[in-house]
Amino acid sequence: MKRPVYLYNSMTRKKEEFKTHEPMKCGMYTCGPTVYHFAHIGNLRTYIMEDVLEKFLRFYGYDVKRVMNITDVGHLSSDADEGEDKMVKGAKREHKTVLEIAKYYTDAFMSDCAKLNIKTPDVVEPATNLIPEYIEMVSTLLEKGYAYFADGNVYFDTSKLEKYYVFNDFEEEDLQVGVREGVTEDSSKRNKTDFVLWFTKSKFEDQALKWDSPWGVGYPGWHIECSCISIKHLGEYCDLHCGGIDNAFPHHTNEIAQSESYLGHEWCNQWFHVHHLNDETGKMSKSKGEFLTVSLLEQKGYNPIVYRFFCLQSHYRKSLTFSYEGLDNAKVAYDKLISKIAALKNDGEVDMAVADEQTEKFCNALSGDLNTSMAVTALYDVLKLKANDATKLYLIDKFDYVLSLNLLSEAKKLNDSKPEEKDVNADVPAEIMEMVMARVEAKKAKDFALADSLRDRVKEAGYTIKDTAKGPEVIKD
Ligand code: AMP
Ligand code: ZN
Repeated sequence: MKRPVYLYNSMTRKKEEFKTHEPMKCGMYTCGPTVYHFAHIGNLRTYIMEDVLEKFLRFYGYDVKRVMNITDVGHLSSDADEGEDKMVKGAKREHKTVLEIAKYYTDAFMSDCAKLNIKTPDVVEPATNLIPEYIEMVSTLLEKGYAYFADGNVYFDTSKLEKYYVFNDFEEEDLQVGVREGVTEDSSKRNKTDFVLWFTKSKFEDQALKWDSPWGVGYPGWHIECSCISIKHLGEYCDLHCGGIDNAFPHHTNEIAQSESYLGHEWCNQWFHVHHLNDETGKMSKSKGEFLTVSLLEQKGYNPIVYRFFCLQSHYRKSLTFSYEGLDNAKVAYDKLISKIAALKNDGEVDMAVADEQTEKFCNALSGDLNTSMAVTALYDVLKLKANDATKLYLIDKFDYVLSLNLLSEAKKLNDSKPEEKDVNADVPAEIMEMVMARVEAKKAKDFALADSLRDRVKEAGYTIKDTAKGPEVIKD
């Protein structure tokens, strides 16, 4: 019997046995990027850890369907519906249209993911694809009394819920409008935590993408896309919902509010949040100085997979500080690992008893709340095993399905790059080489008289034999 998978659940704030709606089938939803700029390596930490989680579940036998949105509309500068639309801001910055920006940065994101061996989810859905679905969900929420129309926008009424704050223990008074000083509150909201489902009253005249709706021409709020995209592709139950820790509130809190009110039942019970990557000055941001991207790491000479290795060495529920020194250490460790693997020879039968035992160790690390650093230790342990190289190579290949560190291909590349052992005797005539090799055999048989006479015959033919550690070298006189 396999051990169950245990994951920390942000909803219950404890590690729990991972349970799916149908046994061994996992509908997995990942909040995707807002494509107004390049992803920074912090964003990509989240996608790397989600990728390991998905691959581990598959490795463990789950039939996973993974869905991800691409936010190409509706995400305002502040997650709380304030500020300018990030996409419009990006388009202005680059003097392009919103659609051009969306296409360019979606492609850039996919290319970064490919460089980091992050598998493309089974479904990748741009938010702008599902406008009729948002209109249908907003209409239902209005009919059911969970939403209201005010001053041109449709809002979700959080006071209609028994429990709104599912991830954090906030005080009830935080629900009141206008409590935070210095922040312009939307006076059309009945409660401070109400959020926009559909905007028609854009704060910006130049809002680029707009669609007709029963409430006027407008565009969807940010949160609704994830609810609709998940329900469309995974059905009424989502088994596992992932994102960075900043997504927990308000984004995931609002997703739960609208999905459960719409469906009339619980929607997703397992919430997986990856903690942030910070730089040495604090929070990583796209507007701050040197903006850390995969391309920047490449320009500085790093293999992006070394960054993946760096991420795997720490736990997803701890914030991680990025430094070039840390990345250099990861590079040294990675190069050492690859050269150890490169020295292994495929030497016969795999010892399945050993392989099963080691695989169990690897799985125990990952089924214990995705302990990737322990999984990497399990990989190092394979190299130390008293087993043949074939067994080690088999395990390395297996583990790398989940770790995705290009272990075997990089080791092969290293071996291929080593200068070929040149045959120093390539130009020596065959009949001379026959005598040279016969002398080697004679020496082995301790027939030194024969060995000496062969050396003399070679000399008479115009060649000198020089004995080296690698064997005889034959030099033309
Ligand atoms: P965005 O493109 O801003 O919508 O973010 C994409 C993903 O990256 C989301 O899941 C965020 O929660 C996550 N994220 C944002 N900042 C960081 C960070 N510094 N470290 C890790 N993940 C982050
Ligand atoms: Zn989302």
